[in-house]
Amino acid sequence: VALILLALSGCGQAQSSGNSGNSGKSSGPKPVIGLSLPTQSTAVWVLDKNQMISDAKKMGIDLRVQVANDDSGQQLSQCESLINQGVKVLIVAPNDAQAAAAIVQQAHAAKIKVISFDRLITGADDDLYVSFDNEKVGELQGKYLTQHAPKGNYIVMSGDPTDNNALLFKKGAMKYIQPLVDKGDIHIVADQAIQGWQPDNAMKIVENALTLAKNNVQGILAPNDDTAGAAIQALAAQGLAGKVVVTGQDATLSGAQRILAGTQSMTVFKDTRVEDQAAMDAALKMVEGKAPATNGTINNGKIEVPSVLLSPVVVEKSNLDKVLIDSGYLKKADVYKK
Ligand code: BGC
Repeated sequence: VALILLALSGCGQAQSSGNSGNSGKSSGPKPVIGLSLPTQSTAVWVLDKNQMISDAKKMGIDLRVQVANDDSGQQLSQCESLINQGVKVLIVAPNDAQAAAAIVQQAHAAKIKVISFDRLITGADDDLYVSFDNEKVGELQGKYLTQHAPKGNYIVMSGDPTDNNALLFKKGAMKYIQPLVDKGDIHIVADQAIQGWQPDNAMKIVENALTLAKNNVQGILAPNDDTAGAAIQALAAQGLAGKVVVTGQDATLSGAQRILAGTQSMTVFKDTRVEDQAAMDAALKMVEGKAPATNGTINNGKIEVPSVLLSPVVVEKSNLDKVLIDSGYLKKADVYKK
């Protein structure tokens, strides 16, 4: 992965528009790239949006950004609009993996390449996938959870079922949890997907499961920090915050604060700065007619999609400062704010 990043980072300075083969509808010298994000209702997508806008500025890219508000129909029409504006490459983080296949078809009909960003678009000819090793994300969560709560009752939650990542996270986590269930050490009291990744829904799942288990719960698989926060609120209402092992993902500011407070056990850090830069670098390469560097492929049900897959990192109290603050990802003053 380090090699890939080195290779990818070389094109940051390109302001050029020597894109002779691109006499398209865009006016002006800057390469025009489209970005379609699924939402701003989860913290991490706000970071991605801001980061990519700032990357684009530095790289001399005219980035056209659309946010779909968790709505696949809206995402399709926003992408149609980007296609009509003459973007040269479209970066799409799908709201719904399957529904977004229509976006790829329309883009390809207009000779526009599509980068599937963070979340995989399934059943389509995605030109590239830029993400993390998402099954590994789940493995890190499952490993941590089973090491720190090797016996007892679990609440297992997964993200929205139309997000391919949610399936991969769960698959990875269950590699560690299922053998202990089979052995009889762990009993799953609830196993549910969180519709729309909404924290409110996660809170209800945890409240109901706590009632069912008479508050006798030792571990909660929460797929990301926002849903972990909701789970911890439900625990706190029963006086259980800090007494149950709770996973997370995204290394959000509030996730980091909860880890220091001892209510959330861990998070999985996926450096959005690196992922965003990788996507922008790849898009620029494609505009220039070059093939971006990749380090693997992912099967999306139709093809083996050439992929750039980055490595996720576990963060807990003991390495939080080093991984999140020393790297400049979070500011010490924010994380330790009283
Ligand atoms: C992303 C996570 C995010 C989740 C909810 C997933 O596809 O990989 O980082 O927390 O969506 O938006």
